Formats: sequence, C-alpha cells, structure tokens
Amino acid sequence: MNKPLTGNLAIVSGPSGVGKSTVIAEVLRRRPDLYFSVSFTTRAPREGEVNGVNYHFVDVPEFERMIAEGELLEYANYSGNYYGTSAKLIDEKLEQGIDVLLDIEVVGSKIVHDKRPDTPLIFIIPPSFEVLSQRLYGRGTDSEEVIQKRLDRAREELKEVPRYDYLVVNDRVENAVDEILSILRAEGCRTKKRIHLVEIEEE
Ligand code: 5GP
Repeated sequence: MNKPLTGNLAIVSGPSGVGKSTVIAEVLRRRPDLYFSVSFTTRAPREGEVNGVNYHFVDVPEFERMIAEGELLEYANYSGNYYGTSAKLIDEKLEQGIDVLLDIEVVGSKIVHDKRPDTPLIFIIPPSFEVLSQRLYGRGTDSEEVIQKRLDRAREELKEVPRYDYLVVNDRVENAVDEILSILRAEGCRTKKRIHLVEIEEE
C-alpha cells in the first residue's frame, strides 16, 4: 500500500493566439508548486523571450541529435519548426512527487497520451475564430505569412478537440484559470492516484 507518490502530468493545448501563455502564467502563479515543462524548440526567440525560461532554444542539428538519442518524450513540427519535451526533465519532477504541466500542440499530445494514457488532455479554445484572428494580428510579433500559417493550423487543430478530456473557453482569463485549476484538482483526487491512502484487507 505504501506506493511511492508520483506527481501528476497534465497537458494543455490550444491554437496559437488563444492566450495559453497568459492563462498558464496565472495558473502557475496560483499553483507555485506546479512545474511547467520548458520545451526545446528550433524556432527563433521572440522579442522578450529568454532562453531556458520560455523555451530552450536549440538549432536543428542539436534537436535532431535529441530525437536520435531518444531524449524526447514527444516532439512535433509546428509551422516549420521543431518543438519537443525532454523526457528526463519531466520524469525527474514526477518522481519527486511534483505535478507537471505541458503546453504542447495536438500531435505531441497524442504521442504522450498513447505512451501515458492517464494523462488528462485539456484544450483551450477562443470564444470565436474571429477573436483568435484579431489576437494574432494584435500581438504584432509575427509576419502576415506566419499568422496565416497559424490560422490554417488552428483550423486543423480544432478538429482534434473531441479527443480531449476537457474543453476550456478562454472568454475571460480568470474563468479559464479557475477551470484549469479545478480540473487539475479533480484529477489529483482520482482514486487510482490516492489508493495508497487506503488499507484494504485481503479477503
Ligand atoms: P509558439 O511558437 O507560439 O511558442 O508555440 C507554437 C505551438 O507549439 C504551440 O501550440 C505550443 O503549444 C506548441 N509547443 C510548445 N512546446 C511544445 C513541445 O514541447 N512539444 C509540442 N509538440 N508542441 C509544443
């Protein structure tokens, strides 16, 4: 019964521009014990992004070395760049009993879910496609071509929504944050996560 405690893994996905970073930053502020997995990417840093904080920024040969050496739990190509999650970095946290949150796109979420089917999948959607488009243009960080690619990708990603366990509408950041915190809390109460607390006598 005294099984060692491990942390819980959860995945958040959502189209580019849905406000995921803002929502996740607030989730982390309210759950400072939660570990946010910093991904590896070959995308160039945006203004203000810090290596090791927002992403580990690496070049293509280094990313391909990580793939070849099996260092990634999952990876995907998104808008022409690689993005991936280090298996070692998150497993270290989970083994210490720390809950881990991944912000990854739909291909990566499927890979993780196939490998670890207990992982809850949360999808954040914008109130409408128009709002998403306005947010991407309003951000002013990407070129027209990049924005169009991201909107096309968003249309594709929305088709994956039925595969997700939870759907959160980011109409207001506080609502989306509250919902995600509730989901994480409920997931942590699952019997299989707490069965070690119960002494069941053998019949
Ligand atoms: P952005 O370039 O806007 O930071 O991220 C683009 C997309 O890549 C987002 O949908 C984000 O969720 C996804 N992403 C970030 N890190 C990872 C990762 O490690 N693996 C996968 N599969 N997707 C990721």
